[in-house]
Amino acid sequence: MSKTALLPPEPQVAQLPWHKQLQQSLQQRRDAGLYRQTRQRQGEQSVEVVVDGQSFLSFTSNDYLGLASHPDVRAAFIKVASEEGVGSGAAHLLTGHSVHHQHLEEQLAVFCQQEAVLLFSTGYMANIGVIDALTGRNDVVIQDKLNHASLLDGGRLSEARQWRYAHNDMQQLHRRLHQTSDAGQRLIVSDGVFSMDGDLAPLPEIMALAQQHRTAVLIDDAHAIGVLGSQGRGSVEHWQLEPASYPIVVGTFGKAFGTAGAFVAADEVVIETLRQHARSYVYTTAQPAAIAAATSVSLRLLQAESWRREKLQALIEQFRRGAEQLGLPLMDSQTAIQPVLMDNEHQALAVGQSLEQQGILVGVIRPPTVPAGSARLRITFSALHQSEHVDRLLSALEQACAH
Ligand code: PMP
Repeated sequence: MSKTALLPPEPQVAQLPWHKQLQQSLQQRRDAGLYRQTRQRQGEQSVEVVVDGQSFLSFTSNDYLGLASHPDVRAAFIKVASEEGVGSGAAHLLTGHSVHHQHLEEQLAVFCQQEAVLLFSTGYMANIGVIDALTGRNDVVIQDKLNHASLLDGGRLSEARQWRYAHNDMQQLHRRLHQTSDAGQRLIVSDGVFSMDGDLAPLPEIMALAQQHRTAVLIDDAHAIGVLGSQGRGSVEHWQLEPASYPIVVGTFGKAFGTAGAFVAADEVVIETLRQHARSYVYTTAQPAAIAAATSVSLRLLQAESWRREKLQALIEQFRRGAEQLGLPLMDSQTAIQPVLMDNEHQALAVGQSLEQQGILVGVIRPPTVPAGSARLRITFSALHQSEHVDRLLSALEQACAH
């Protein structure tokens, strides 16, 4: 038999002219230095990782507190998976909602000082579900331009009119509120900590404007929950808001909690509305119960072990001091997300490669994930890093940026 006879026939889709256009656009992306690729990690998710067979010291994960590999978190996951199986088998509103989900929701409501909590299978799904469920045709959604893609996508799904304001520009937000005063309901939406810049939304100012204009606020605290505030309650604790002026909060478990999934914390009426109407809650399989059980353990650990937040903060400060001495272009971030700006995407790739040759892995972030002209290295820290790791990173950066 000839070799070609073993190949599958050309699929129907590949015969279409449209398929050629897809190929061309992939090639353009490659040529522009914007092509994204998956790599394979083997073994444990930690600060020392093996990727594509090579060992690296990694500054790429959002496991800010080092809980993803914590023995108690693993043990809770394994116990419930062995008792109850892996898959939850159904949506929450059918039989997918286990006692472990219920406990986690109740514990999170207490932690967040809000009336109620609803779990979602991912943060992406929480964000699209909430915005779509809470706003409709006569309403307006007003978002920071640098909000996470899932928030912007939530706006696209909703039938509400979409407005944006320049990043953290409170004067422009104020103008937007005046411009939309004829709308039905309005929802201001912002990241609590911006995922690519690492800076904070000015929550007290946003809440004051919202109060003045009788507008609801949704804060995506994916990068703040567990990390900011002395007890890890996120942006509201960092800014010392009173519970009466808390926004609706989305938190995710894939970062500081070290597990997977997400939640929304708000008052009973909002949470009940989401349970009834959030399509990404109603029409999807509940996250595995073992994840909920492991997340409950993470929640206990992150409250009990404030040393993790303190250590993380010390590492961040050590890095910023060292990077400033090297004259690296840092951004205005005090959080575990520390971007270093590059001249362009080609330089970002070259510096990323040089770091890899020195055994260091960082995120190389290019448009469209960030605005054109703002390619950067995205360096994230974890409480599992040691001070020597930061020294190694700084000397590797010095060498990589010297070329
Ligand atoms: N919001 C923000 C700010 C994020 O950075 C992310 C994930 N990178 C998400 C939401 C989505 O969360 P998840 O990964 O749980 O889907």
